[in-house]
Amino acid sequence: MTRGAAPELNWAGNYRYTAAAIHRPRSLEEVQDVVAGAAKVRALGSRHSFNDIADSPGSLISLEDLDPAIRIDAATRTVTVSGGTRYGTLAEKLETNGFALPNLASLPHISVAGAIATATHGSGDANGNLATSVAALEIVAADGTVHQLSRGDSPDFDGAVVGLGALGVVTKVTLDIEPTFMVRQDVFEALPWEMVLENFDAATSSAYSVSLFTDWSGDALAQAWLKSRVSGAEAAGVGLPAHRGDTFFGGTRATVARHPLPGVSAENCTEQLGVPGPWSERLAHFRMAFTPSSGEELQSEFFVRREDAVAAIAELRALSDRITPLLLVSEIRTVAADRLWLSTAYGQDSVGFHFTWKQRQAEVEEVLPVMEEALAPFNARPHWGKLFHAGAGSLAGLYPRFADFKDLAERMDPEHKFRNGFLARKVFGG
Ligand SMILES: Cc1cc2nc3c(=O)[nH]c(=O)nc-3n(C[C@H](O)[C@H](O)[C@H](O)COP(=O)(O)OP(=O)(O)OC[C@H]3O[C@@H](n4cnc5c(N)ncnc54)[C@H](O)[C@@H]3O)c2cc1C
Repeated sequence: MTRGAAPELNWAGNYRYTAAAIHRPRSLEEVQDVVAGAAKVRALGSRHSFNDIADSPGSLISLEDLDPAIRIDAATRTVTVSGGTRYGTLAEKLETNGFALPNLASLPHISVAGAIATATHGSGDANGNLATSVAALEIVAADGTVHQLSRGDSPDFDGAVVGLGALGVVTKVTLDIEPTFMVRQDVFEALPWEMVLENFDAATSSAYSVSLFTDWSGDALAQAWLKSRVSGAEAAGVGLPAHRGDTFFGGTRATVARHPLPGVSAENCTEQLGVPGPWSERLAHFRMAFTPSSGEELQSEFFVRREDAVAAIAELRALSDRITPLLLVSEIRTVAADRLWLSTAYGQDSVGFHFTWKQRQAEVEEVLPVMEEALAPFNARPHWGKLFHAGAGSLAGLYPRFADFKDLAERMDPEHKFRNGFLARKVFGG
């Protein structure tokens, strides 16, 4: 095991970690020793969150030096990996072996344990967030003991998956898998808002995964990205032209590959133009070998019930004067309901409004409370790993199992080893 200086900054460079050191264990036993011996400690993933959620007033643990130990079980249709494994690494291994995950986030660079801890998601009316694929977890709790939790068997399981790092260090994750499948990606441009809003459910359900991109100004959405599962015949090129017309709710088919950000080269993006390819090379927007998104950015995201999406969009468009000048781009996605206590889709089919901001944090932080107030009638839930204003007082009312989560954290971490400033403000505070 090595112990060194904690990384200075998160991926976006907008947060400076305060932790004194980082431990890089090479075995489960070393993780147990570090946790048992620490007064304050927390797991760090791939540093892609935009706030202080992963920081610790003591030290950090990274699982990056542990073998990913990817174990595919074809009989139970599951794969077990070390928590620090990145989705890109896992996806490649699964695809090589003829298997797939049901969905990916926009980027493959994030760690499995870090992504599920914040309810990270992709899109698709019928697709739950990435945490819903979790079948079992191995967690090192505050006293260094190893807990195995599995779906259906452990009463705490639904509370532990989206754990915000508050329950312990997730050393192994078992995920549901399915046989590999092919996906084609089609992009449409300049979709009139009116047509999309009149047909919102039809638009979001028209492909396996639909993402709508906008800057909230004007009369038209900038782009729609449609990721469709295709059959073997289609993948072989039979019937491709007939797959979808040249318009989509008033938008026109892009004839060159696009980046979600206007004017940015699409070379960082997964292949488009309807060319079929394996799920592992289409479901994320960005390729593993390149910088995802812009790199110089901040992010926020808010989730509302699907029935409230059109009304919530009207509120956000009305704030365009405040939002658009600070924005690089927004993405609208859908997420299926689940039963994970702190999931942003808990109990409700949801629509996520994502904001990729310019790196003007002070101004973004001024506009966030205004947006949260506008979305308050819809009980909007903020993404745990991105920038938001709400504190524990208001978040508690958004999650029916919030108090149960706090009880679970108290049981697994009675000495508050895993607590940090984020948890104090957003979960355990008044
Ligand atoms: C360019 C970009 C694109 C993004 N796109 C999306 C997207 O499409 N959809 C989406 O929902 N989000 C997206 N995000 C947000 C990102 O997915 C989340 O912030 C995610 O939690 C980051 O995972 P990470 O591995 O970097 O974890 P970190 O940010 O390092 O940590 C996040 C949390 O996980 C905990 N954690 C990490 N590892 C462990 C472990 N082993 N055991 C217990 N807890 C652990 C940490 O303590 C912390 O609480 C994006 C972020 C970026 C930078």
